Amino acid sequence: MLSFLINPISLYLIISLLITHSSSTMVQSHYHDHDHHHKHPHVWHKFNKLLNSKKGSRIQGIAELKQYFHHFGYYHHILPNNNHTKIPFTNKFDDHLEDVVTRYQQIFGLPKTGTLDESTISLVMSPRCGVPDHNIINKNPRPTSLLHGVQHYLYFPGQPRWNREIPINLTYAFSPQDMINYLSMPEIRGAFARSFSKWASIIPVNFLETQDYDLADIKIGFYSGDHGDGDPFDGVLGVLAHAFSPENGRFHLDAAETWTVDFKSENSKVAIDLESVALHEIGHLLGLAHSTIEESVMYPSLKPRERKLKLRVDDIAGVQNLYGSNPNFTLGALLEAETSSSFHCIDHLRDTFHMLASLAAFLVICLCL
Ligand SMILES: [Zn+2]
Ligand SMILES: [Zn+2]
Repeated sequence: MLSFLINPISLYLIISLLITHSSSTMVQSHYHDHDHHHKHPHVWHKFNKLLNSKKGSRIQGIAELKQYFHHFGYYHHILPNNNHTKIPFTNKFDDHLEDVVTRYQQIFGLPKTGTLDESTISLVMSPRCGVPDHNIINKNPRPTSLLHGVQHYLYFPGQPRWNREIPINLTYAFSPQDMINYLSMPEIRGAFARSFSKWASIIPVNFLETQDYDLADIKIGFYSGDHGDGDPFDGVLGVLAHAFSPENGRFHLDAAETWTVDFKSENSKVAIDLESVALHEIGHLLGLAHSTIEESVMYPSLKPRERKLKLRVDDIAGVQNLYGSNPNFTLGALLEAETSSSFHCIDHLRDTFHMLASLAAFLVICLCL
């Protein structure tokens, strides 16, 4: 017991998890303080009227909710191999929907009520990545112990990666015609360059911007509605972007969003941080699927005006398992990144002190036993 407690890696994992738990609480409370959905209707706003419906309910909008869960892979076990097909769902809250809602709640750590309670509807309406979660669903989604809690990264079926000699050089290019005009190219290029460099700093992969769009490994563009890949964008909020698994390289952003690189100059309540979305989608381009850890970059949802700019333990462990580590990457740098990102505001500082006090008390109790 004592050797477990003084093992520095075990301690690091425990501290990391406690910090993660603390910031999770913070994000949740922040969201409730600034719920924009009522003032700014968007594509999933209508799900709000399904609040508190449960098995047996029959309400207009249940069919669309079923389609939503189907799109993101939650009917995979009931209706296999039909991912992009429109199914004629009914408005009855049936056994299958209750099963789907319960799985969704279990995966994202919500109370398993099987009903559309407030926390479930809130997460359903939250803007998110368009890549389905079905690879999450077949796994045991929640940690069974502290030490397993950091391994929530997942891959696409078959675990594809860029199969080239290490170090890998990947080129990326912006579409010559499918861009947005209210941000300058230096602003857009800067946001993407910073995101690519964060991933490059932890794995032996280099990213180089090229002007040759046709030959680039990674092709980036902004698109509206149906744009030819069978996965149309849906307008303001809802799906923000999607990217394809290796070695496809397509990276599409919904042109209907209010993209920003600076919240000081963009007042829109529905503004979406371009750099945070770029960081997430690059994870998909490299082969990572979604994570259930709310603080991880690979978590599927991102709220309006939220910034998520640091790769967390879960993201790093996942991608390094695919490509190996960048020789310049150290565990010390990771610990520094984890702790500094948790100290960015006074509330975090207070919560972290609470947590460290709890940890100290726990250690004292164990030592006394
Ligand atoms: Zn995603
Ligand atoms: Zn697309």
